[in-house]
Amino acid sequence: MTERRGLTRLAALALQQRRQGLARQLPPVGETLRGSLMERYMVCGKPGCKCSRGERHGPVCYLSVTLGPGRTTGGLVADEQLQRVRRWIANYQQVKDHLEKISEINRELLRRERQKTKR
Ligand SMILES: [Zn+2]
Repeated sequence: MTERRGLTRLAALALQQRRQGLARQLPPVGETLRGSLMERYMVCGKPGCKCSRGERHGPVCYLSVTLGPGRTTGGLVADEQLQRVRRWIANYQQVKDHLEKISEINRELLRRERQKTKR
């Protein structure tokens, strides 16, 4: 009985430490960007340009952002912005991933709390 309680407490402590680690390892939240990069071929609109005959310019990098079902926005990304944009997108994924893991831990901790009060 006491052994089981000890183990439970230790596991909870491990979960809390894991949670703390995840929170500490968060990339800078200010350097995040939601969206995905894709390549696009563009028409510039200049009359007589090769693109008006179907030979489009590109590939150019485009950031596509989903706003909701069937709604997207985005914009072109300059070559000199590309590295930063890639890093920000990776940071966003990491923040999201860590928040998801922290949520999982917190759900587990809440569940244990509930079980404890039942006794
Ligand atoms: Zn053109």
